[in-house]
Amino acid sequence: MNIYYHPQYNISLGLLNYLHPFDGRKFSTVFNAIESLEGINIKQPDNPASQAIINDFVDGLQRRLLHKKRYILRALEIPYIPLLPFSMIDKRILLPMRWGVAGTIEASKAALNGNNAWNLSGGYHHATPRNSQGFCIYNDIGISLQEASTAGLVSETDKILIIDIDAHHGNGNAYTFMNKKNVTILDIYNNDIYPQNNLTKERVNINVPLTAGTDGHEYNTALQSALNKLEGDYRIAYVIAGTDVLESDSLGGLGLSITECVERDKLVYEKLQSLSIPAVFLGGGGYSRDSAQAIIGSIKSLVCDVSRQPSQKNPKYTSC
Ligand SMILES: [Zn+2]
Repeated sequence: MNIYYHPQYNISLGLLNYLHPFDGRKFSTVFNAIESLEGINIKQPDNPASQAIINDFVDGLQRRLLHKKRYILRALEIPYIPLLPFSMIDKRILLPMRWGVAGTIEASKAALNGNNAWNLSGGYHHATPRNSQGFCIYNDIGISLQEASTAGLVSETDKILIIDIDAHHGNGNAYTFMNKKNVTILDIYNNDIYPQNNLTKERVNINVPLTAGTDGHEYNTALQSALNKLEGDYRIAYVIAGTDVLESDSLGGLGLSITECVERDKLVYEKLQSLSIPAVFLGGGGYSRDSAQAIIGSIKSLVCDVSRQPSQKNPKYTSC
């Protein structure tokens, strides 16, 4: 499996760390734990996604809004701070996200050439070509398909699959692909939290709303049932593997243990393998202290023969 990571993914909010629960350093924590594993090829994007690539994707108004401090802070769910220069927000937060977009672009190209890939960043499923919200500025899946199309790797008629297993409904992807019939979306999410958007929920082909507090057993049973509905010859599958489903996450409102979160990713991966669909796993949300450990566990479980110990609730994965 190709793992996409760049040191620039890491977000350093400085004092803003106190205003948002996101652990911007978790990408490096995951990377340090997995970089020497067998079965993993570490890949680095060469550059962040360029302004030209982003401008090709977004509409005219959004092009301008992406340079407005008040708009960006609202999308990042950070209170307006008069003395904070936009240049600092761009350098500390938006630039790392553009590196994340570049990782999704490269991971997509790898998958379209038959290699499974995991971008440690990306999965900005609340963003659209017209709007940024929910700590998502750029819709990286849409941008990566735009770039794959330009490179001749994917056509308008190729079937695309999005499996969204982040705790939040992926309203940005549903909106972005509202009229794209070749894109199938499976979304399993906590229906009692942000975002509450019925129009985008109706766009989802396999819609699995859960109630707040759903535990890991119930979640994975519902997920397996949804995965069983998938069939067909998809060109590529994107998986928004947000770890905000963890019971320790303060925003997701679901109740998965680390082990159950790892099992969740394995269920998805095995389904895609059984259908011979190349996968791009994306970081998505994840705001708890356990987020990095869950991602590390998942990557190891997908590439290593991890001996499981069912009696241990949150096992530490130390080696393949
Ligand atoms: Zn989320």
